[in-house]
Amino acid sequence: MDRSTRIAVLGAGLGGLAVAGLLQRAGFPVVVYEQTPSFSRIGAGIILGANAAKVLRRLELERGLVETGIRPDAFVSRAWDTGETTWELRFDAEMDARFDGPFVNIHRADLHRLLQDALAPGTIRFGHKIAGIDETPEGLRLTFENGTTAEADVAIGADGIRSKVREIILGAEEPRFIGRIAPRAVFPASRLAGTPIRDCTKWWGPDRHVLAYYMTARRDEVYVMAAVPADRWDGDDAPMPGSRDEFLAAIEGFHPDLQRAVEAATDVMVWPICDRPRNDRWSDGRIVLLGDACHPVRPFMAAGGSMALEDAAILSRCLQHFSDPSTAFARYATLRIPRVAEVQWGSLANTWMRGPTDVSWFFAYDACSVPLDCGGL
Ligand SMILES: Cc1cc2nc3c(=O)[nH]c(=O)nc-3n(C[C@H](O)[C@H](O)[C@H](O)COP(=O)(O)OP(=O)(O)OC[C@H]3O[C@@H](n4cnc5c(N)ncnc54)[C@H](O)[C@@H]3O)c2cc1C
Repeated sequence: MDRSTRIAVLGAGLGGLAVAGLLQRAGFPVVVYEQTPSFSRIGAGIILGANAAKVLRRLELERGLVETGIRPDAFVSRAWDTGETTWELRFDAEMDARFDGPFVNIHRADLHRLLQDALAPGTIRFGHKIAGIDETPEGLRLTFENGTTAEADVAIGADGIRSKVREIILGAEEPRFIGRIAPRAVFPASRLAGTPIRDCTKWWGPDRHVLAYYMTARRDEVYVMAAVPADRWDGDDAPMPGSRDEFLAAIEGFHPDLQRAVEAATDVMVWPICDRPRNDRWSDGRIVLLGDACHPVRPFMAAGGSMALEDAAILSRCLQHFSDPSTAFARYATLRIPRVAEVQWGSLANTWMRGPTDVSWFFAYDACSVPLDCGGL
């Protein structure tokens, strides 16, 4: 598309920041509108594989990623009660070469900061919650809840699972609470008091699981997160304060190695786990969706953020390559839908890497070089 095309990105999450950075580098004028007045250091980690690292490489952020986060020596799956290791995927030089990139655990806020730093100063307009988008003869008029308006030629809805942009395209539909909650905590590793954990372990119980990993190369910050059955969730998508005792009660009977790690937790917060039934309509006119706005997945493959980053890479390439938005959006959806569907199925099954697993199709994928003409448009 013409490099004077004005692009508005709605939402400064992982996908929004990445697509903004990639489009800015390609020469497009980009503005990101974010509802929150400023970012805070929310307590959560994220696991990213080589497929995500390759997107961050395009933004020259791969080095920052590995220096800020941790490259775990392995992903370890253990049985909840006996502690038996059911699979261990080692991340060594051979793996990095095979997948063309590292596996990294990082604090989300640190990843956010890296992605923000890749943008030109002033790109993000904080305190701008999108309320409406109207077509005009000149393009699009964006209306924000703070009463301001803005013009753009293309709008990218990267506004997460409760996407307003999705609602504008598809109508209002609440996300689906999947009957599980996620207690999570971030705490200093010094609290482990001499019982260190492995770099990245998933503990598999009969109806629940727990992840425990370091988030920094210094191994000084720990993240624990569980997915636990729950009958209901009465809030919205914001986390609610929980307690260490509730977390411990939820993992009663789990192996002592995990119990000790959770006993060290402070500031437990509980998040609802939601998804949406699949809907393959990702665009309308000059408006397109990306990441959780169009395909929120259950977090059981730790892949939703990676999917948003891959979307960002493919969408930015399509906007560069094709001369009109409808062709660019159609090609983007054709390329992305089958891949995201695989991840949606894998996340529903919740067996990813529990035992020996073919992981190449996931980690070796390169959204920055996959041919744009495949997928049979
Ligand atoms: C418990 C849990 C653990 C997870 N672990 C992993 C993991 O290890 N690895 C992984 O890859 N993924 C993981 N995920 C999934 C991942 O967090 C999401 O898929 C990812 O954050 C989606 O990115 P996004 O950019 O689409 O949306 P988000 O990151 O949700 O960003 C959306 C942004 O839009 C803003 N916004 C919302 N509404 C508006 C509006 N109306 N106007 C303007 N701005 C708006 C929000 O404030 C936010 O900044 C996990 C998810 C959960 C729930």
